[in-house]
Amino acid sequence: MPDYRTEPDPLCELPSLFALTRGGPGKKAQGPARDDLASLLAIDPVLALRAIRMAGATILGKDELTVATPRLLLQRLGTGVISRMATAPAPAFANVDEVVALWLHAIASAAAARKLAELGCLATGVDPDLAAFCALVHDLPRWTTVLAKGRGIASGNEGPLAWSRRWRLPESLQVTWLAAHCGTPEADNHSELARTVVGAETLAILAGFPHTPGQTLETDWLASIDAASRQVLVSSVRLEVDRLIEDAGLEKNAIRECIGAMAASARPEVLPEFAEGIVKLQELGSSERYRPVLTSLVAGACRYLGADRAFFVQWVGKRQQLLIRTKYDRSAVPIGVRLVRPSPAEAALMGRVAGLEEPEFLVHEENYGYRLLDHLGSESVLVVPVLGGGGCHGLLLLDWSYSLRRSHAANLSMRALAIAGVCGQTMTALHLKRLGRRSALEARIDALTGLLNRRAALDQLEREIHRQRRKEQPMALMMLDLDHFKSTNDRYGHLTGDRVLASVGRVLKDTLRNSDVAGRYGGEEFLVVQFDTTIEEATVVAARIYKSVEEVGDEIGVPITISIGLTDLRSDDSVESLLRRADQALYASKHRGRNRFSIDSL
Ligand code: GH3
Ligand code: MG
Ligand code: MG
Repeated sequence: MPDYRTEPDPLCELPSLFALTRGGPGKKAQGPARDDLASLLAIDPVLALRAIRMAGATILGKDELTVATPRLLLQRLGTGVISRMATAPAPAFANVDEVVALWLHAIASAAAARKLAELGCLATGVDPDLAAFCALVHDLPRWTTVLAKGRGIASGNEGPLAWSRRWRLPESLQVTWLAAHCGTPEADNHSELARTVVGAETLAILAGFPHTPGQTLETDWLASIDAASRQVLVSSVRLEVDRLIEDAGLEKNAIRECIGAMAASARPEVLPEFAEGIVKLQELGSSERYRPVLTSLVAGACRYLGADRAFFVQWVGKRQQLLIRTKYDRSAVPIGVRLVRPSPAEAALMGRVAGLEEPEFLVHEENYGYRLLDHLGSESVLVVPVLGGGGCHGLLLLDWSYSLRRSHAANLSMRALAIAGVCGQTMTALHLKRLGRRSALEARIDALTGLLNRRAALDQLEREIHRQRRKEQPMALMMLDLDHFKSTNDRYGHLTGDRVLASVGRVLKDTLRNSDVAGRYGGEEFLVVQFDTTIEEATVVAARIYKSVEEVGDEIGVPITISIGLTDLRSDDSVESLLRRADQALYASKHRGRNRFSIDSL
């Protein structure tokens, strides 16, 4: 006898409904109750068939006397095995609608078969449980075709009998399938079960649950039932499907959404999409902020790798703690604090991951403190280094514990590393962009005073002249020069001189509006541009400035004064003509005894 336990199971490709219900909002991440499992087995053809295969011929043996009810399967296999099957990895589907249609059709057929057997409409002597169960799983050849198609694999041209043999289906199912789809004479004389199942399938289609939309059956298997009874049966099938789905804690739309979400989460082609999304992010102006970018990256990684949760953490070296910078969660499980001191074992693993640049699973083991895992409320996480230009930016933690979808997928680590690599590159690009912006800014700012430097101030003056003239608004310009600054330096030293210059910078910032421009024009010379300001208004500001400078001198114990020259924008002005007039006004202030302002007299 073949050992089903060691053979690869093509149906493990399909997630069970149970796997879909786990980790949904508001659901507790607990093991399923026995009753839940029984009802899941009753509505989940894939789970049911896998259970039959696991339990072997003893359930539907040669004599077919034993009936494979969900409850019996549960007894044979135990809750643990069924639970594990129910939560097996769930890869992607491209053809969500086909899978959902097939699913609903299977459930409806099972409900219809039970009704037909109970009422004895088509035949007598068929056990309702057996009828329901066979109707539930009768379409399995179609499942494999649909699944293969969804994954872009050409399914072989295998006849239904060969298929059934390969799958070691019970004989009754083989015949049922043949009867329904090939109309072989065997079916007619073979079994009442076959007639019941195919009749049930017809009822399911009439009730609005075909394999594929718009499908009809050519043979009328319900010919012996009158129209009114048929109508009653159809309505009862509809009601029963709703009830079964509801019992399993699902809704029709939820099934579609769940499968759709899986299709979106696990499709390998997401990688280019992911990269494309990141390029877009980088192009966005707002992407200079780390946080939104990090959040998108972590969410993308989580969805691409089909994880339940993902975190981006960074090592805060001097505190020996991990900072959880971003989290993306599909499990609605909160985390408490963002700074965690990992256990020595955890810290060692993280150091290894960052150093060797290879992902590794952090798994909870007995007798060790696992502070990070405890904190995250997780059994295990895949720790992936996020590598960029300058080394390891941080770590991506991926967690599959909530859906119990074991992350044994082949090359998972490689995929995770690839995704983390994209994250790392983005972060490096962002870092460089920010550095670039900073150095561009630094190139415009005078380090000592924090004001614009000469070049930047003149650039801005040039731009603003045109703008103010277009707006036909007044503009005032000041040149300022510290008095006898040479002797200040000589007397108090250059360092004190520098402090004085910085203080004057502060006075200008404090006195002027944010929209005004103040720059360090030369050694101890400054330039101020005031927009939408008349020369009269500017004199008020100038007076305030020279008085404040004098006060600041008193505060720091160095007598300082400043002289100011004022002018305003005229229609034919260039930068040069403006500066020349302001300079002449400044010279007038110096000439008149310093510590004052003058207005140009031209
Ligand atoms: P006046 O009132 O005519 O402007 O006299 P002054 O001494 O200020 O004139 P002058 O332009 O001859 O001297 C400017 C001095 O400013 C010369 C230089 O030592 C000093 N200086 C220029 N840049 C700096 C600087 O960055 N730090 C310090 N401490 N001194 C500077
Ligand atoms: Mg000078
Ligand atoms: Mg001077």
